[in-house]
Amino acid sequence: MSDAVIYNFGAGPAMLPREVMQQVKDEFLDWHGTGISVIEMSHRSKEFISIAEEAETDLRELLNIPNNYKVLYIPGGATMMMSAAPINLLANGETADYLVTGSWSKKAYKEAARLGNINVAADSADDNYYSIPDRNAWSLTSDAAYLYYTDNETITGVEFHEIPDAGDVPLVCDMTSNFLSRPFDMSRYGITFASAQKNFGPAGIACVIVRDDLIGKAGDKTPFLLDFKIYADNDSMFNTPPSFSWYMAGLIYKWILRQGGLVGMDNLAKQRSGKLYQYIDSSDYYTNPIPEKYRSRMNVPFILKDDDLNATFLSEAKQNGLIELKGHRSVGGMRASIYNGMPMEGIDALISFMQDFKEKHG
Ligand SMILES: *Cc1c(COP(=O)(O)O)cnc(C)c1O
Repeated sequence: MSDAVIYNFGAGPAMLPREVMQQVKDEFLDWHGTGISVIEMSHRSKEFISIAEEAETDLRELLNIPNNYKVLYIPGGATMMMSAAPINLLANGETADYLVTGSWSKKAYKEAARLGNINVAADSADDNYYSIPDRNAWSLTSDAAYLYYTDNETITGVEFHEIPDAGDVPLVCDMTSNFLSRPFDMSRYGITFASAQKNFGPAGIACVIVRDDLIGKAGDKTPFLLDFKIYADNDSMFNTPPSFSWYMAGLIYKWILRQGGLVGMDNLAKQRSGKLYQYIDSSDYYTNPIPEKYRSRMNVPFILKDDDLNATFLSEAKQNGLIELKGHRSVGGMRASIYNGMPMEGIDALISFMQDFKEKHG
């Protein structure tokens, strides 16, 4: 093992704040004088209950969550929620509207269409998912049970920069790749959910925030671990939860609070992505295909002028401590995922490497 700093641009699991990783290391063998690790601790112990309660308090403070919303922790990640949303909300034959703006929303749509009546309200496939269809082009169902969308499409790097207007229809939002990276008005949503491994912890858990009236609507034959009510009635401990992931999420919430909360996260995210886009746009060697108004603050794909140099770029980047830059196969080129845990030094190191690479090979 070398001591050289590694900047991990992976889309997820992704880089977490060094400070939090160090804290986890320091208390790994002996959590707060208990002589045991959180990973060995009963989820019913008063110690773990205190961890869960602090996480709840801190998250409510970060997001200013209204009292009529429950915070649930469910295993199975965001993918589980792609099944859970229709199972919980369409049990009586209702219809849901889906905005398909990239791979993740398409996956969610496909799963929901197996489980309920789904209307595709908009689909940007014709534009390679490089944009978000305008609101006036959506074909919404008047009495939809919910409107589903993906706030940040991780693969193409397309992000909503305002909350879609759904009228009285509950909004259900996959925030996996931009959760806790900016403030938002929770009261505009029915449900938000996010897997931890992009912005706030280890894989295996999703934080799901649900408005009370959307709990308890699942059909009789719903498997219990897919039913929101089971989680709500049992403080997300109906079975053994992914307790270590939950604990680490709690530490990240505290870290975010120390960094100036979600406004602080948003400022940092804009600085990181702004600097990188500016460099890409100013160069005649790298390009990003997304129109500015849809660009993601979290995932920045870029294409080299000469595709044949992709492998060389990746191996030289790795020698410089810059890893996981390979773009998704559906887009090609490179992708830098720059979530909350990526420090500004990582962006500077990447840009400096990109400049050198261009000088050498361009
Ligand atoms: C990564 C990702 C997922 C999948 O998360 P899992 O934890 O693997 O289920 C879903 N949606 C978005 C937007 C993602 O970025």
